[in-house]
This record gives sequence, C-alpha cells and structure tokens, in this order.
Amino acid sequence: MSGAATGIAGTSRYDHDRDGLADVLARVADRTGTSLPSYRVDQLWQGMYRDLVAPEDLTTLPKAIRPELAAALPAALVEDTRSVGDAGQTVKWLFRLSDGSLVETVLMHYDQRSTVCVSTQAGCAMACGFCATGQMGFDRHLTTGEIVEQVVRAQVEAGDRRVSNVVFMGMGEPLANYDRTWAAVQRLHGDLGLSARHLTVSTVGIVPGIRRLAAEALPVNLAVSLHAADDELRDELVPINRRYPLEALAEACAEHVATTGRRLSFEWALIHDVNDRLQDAARLADYARPLGAHVNLIPLNPTPGWPTRGSSPERVRAFAAEVSARGGNATVRRTRGTDIDAACGQLRADRAGGGNAGAVAVAPPRGKLRPG
Ligand code: SAH
Repeated sequence: MSGAATGIAGTSRYDHDRDGLADVLARVADRTGTSLPSYRVDQLWQGMYRDLVAPEDLTTLPKAIRPELAAALPAALVEDTRSVGDAGQTVKWLFRLSDGSLVETVLMHYDQRSTVCVSTQAGCAMACGFCATGQMGFDRHLTTGEIVEQVVRAQVEAGDRRVSNVVFMGMGEPLANYDRTWAAVQRLHGDLGLSARHLTVSTVGIVPGIRRLAAEALPVNLAVSLHAADDELRDELVPINRRYPLEALAEACAEHVATTGRRLSFEWALIHDVNDRLQDAARLADYARPLGAHVNLIPLNPTPGWPTRGSSPERVRAFAAEVSARGGNATVRRTRGTDIDAACGQLRADRAGGGNAGAVAVAPPRGKLRPG
C-alpha cells in the first residue's frame, strides 16, 4: 500500500521513531475505536527495531488493529533483484520504491564485522564521470524511512551475523540530502542501536554539509571522495570541486576532525595515467598528512560510460608505497562485489540484463582524461 493511500503521504514504517510510532498507534486506536494502553507502543517499537518484524506480523498486538497498522506503516522497499557474490559474502539488492524508483544496497560480510552500504538518493546529481551512479543522473532524494529500511533488510538477511557498520556510500550524495540522511543516522543510532563510531558518511566534498556534520552532537566518521589533490584535475574528476575547491575542503575536514575526534578518510579511485602517477601520490600525501587522514586506494572499477581503466596492481603498489614514503597513511581497499556489479562506483539502477542506464550516452571527458 502506498503512503498516499494511508493519508500519511511519503512516510513509511521506518520514518518513525518511538514517539512517531506512538502517534501512529493513537490514530489507529481512534480509527478502530480500540483502546491501546501505552505498553503497545513499546511492543510495536520492540517488534520493529529489535525483532525486525513487519507490523502486520506482530502477534503481540491485537489482531483487530493489525491491518490498520500495516496500512499506516507501509514498507518502503520491494525487492526487485537480489544478487550474491564473493562466495556468499556479498549480497546486493535492487529495491523498488513506492514511486517505481530503483536503488541499490550492498551487504558485505568480513571476518570481524558485517557492513551495509546504503543509498541516500535514487541516482546522483554530482556528475562524477567515472561513477556509474553519476552517469545515470539524479532521480530523487530518499526519505529517512527508505534509508533506514535498507539496513533493516540487510540485518534480516544477515541473520545471526550482526550488521555492525553502516557506510553511506551507495547511490547518491548524502550531504545533498542532508536532513533525511541525518535523521537516518539518528534512527540507526538511537533505535537500531548502532554505534556512532561504526557509521560513516561519505561525500564528494560538500563543504557546508561537512560543517553541519561537524556541529552535530553525534560524531560519525567522515569519508571524502578525493581522487585528486590538485584543483585542476579534481575540477574534472569531481565537478563539485569547482564550487568547493581543495583548500576550503581541507578546512572543513579539519573542523570535522577537531570537533568530533572521529576518523577522516579519503577515497581515491586509481585511474590509469590520470591520478596514479608518483606526483599524484606526493600531492595526496601532502594534502592528507596534516589532516591525519587515512587514504583508501581503490583501483577504478569498470563502468559503462567511462573510457579509462583502473591502475595495474604494480602501479597501485608503487602509488601506495609513495604515499607512505611521504608520511601518508594509505591502504589498498579489498574490492568486494565486482562479480555482481556491486563494487564502488558500479551501482546504477538497472536490472541485470534488462537495464537501460548503461545505454545513457556520457560524453567522454575532455583534456587529460581522453584515453590514448
Ligand atoms: N556521493 C558520495 C557517496 C558515494 S560513495 C561520495 O562520492 O562519497 C561511492 C564511492 O565510490 C566514492 O568514493 C566514489 O568516488 C567511488 N567511486 C565511484 N566510481 C568509482 C569507480 N568506477 N571505481 C572505484 N570507485 C568509484
């Protein structure tokens, strides 16, 4: 049932915290002429946030109100496709939202932890040419409930393995959808019980958003998709750099580190002959060192709309060694999900074999990035 049909347009079950659920229950009680003691709120909250059960299946609640409750608290996500990769350690979903938009979510199991990578927008307006989501363009913001429900679905799938970490590194730019993303962070922390030190918001570098993040009472980790440490190249790779150039970005990052004490990391997709030269490593080290940032090096994953290729393992090793030699702190990220197009930058809303996002013509970048 759509949100509109319930009279609570646009909201879904995980848009509500405990107080919100109390309001929903009060309305349902009114409509059904049932009297609902306050412990019913606890049962509903417990069922949704601790036991991860759909409201309609909550047998602790009176049968008479369950259909009304289910209508007032619709699910936001319908599974369209589910792919399993890395011998079962990576699961990717394509979820359909109530308006038909498609988003992707990835669950990754590691020895010591399980991490969910969530989307915050359907598509993305940031237009980074090497990213499959950037190539498809912007569709719409996700609601808080749509973001939180991705984590719930992943935890249900994970079963006994607890989802300990959430990274806002799926489709979309979290800081361009700040309020809903932040409400999701609070819901994950306050209601689902995830530790703030295990929540990481990733951004292309929207400076005002980073400053807002720095001022929040709840300190989360910040990841910045850097990819270049000189403005000329970064203007090309990450177009938002034209508005928020590297110096302003560094200041905002420093503020985040100072006020939150949380870990700052830089993502760097290594692109052959574009940003994987030793001079790029030197610039990166000089940029990251004063900020105490950890650098995650990711050999560029292939996407349909980008003509360049990822760096060879030898060049990745040489680059990492150069960053370290210059006092930087870099590790090569173990790529997950490439076999199911679930790796960094490969998320795009189309269905395996039947999609059309890959057909979108993306003009090859000008200047340095032209291959050959
Ligand atoms: N918009 C936010 C959240 C997305 S995170 C951000 O950019 O930080 C997705 C990460 O994958 C980003 O670091 C992005 O730069 C990186 N990425 C995009 N395309 C990639 C590709 N083809 N190969 C490797 N990493 C890529």
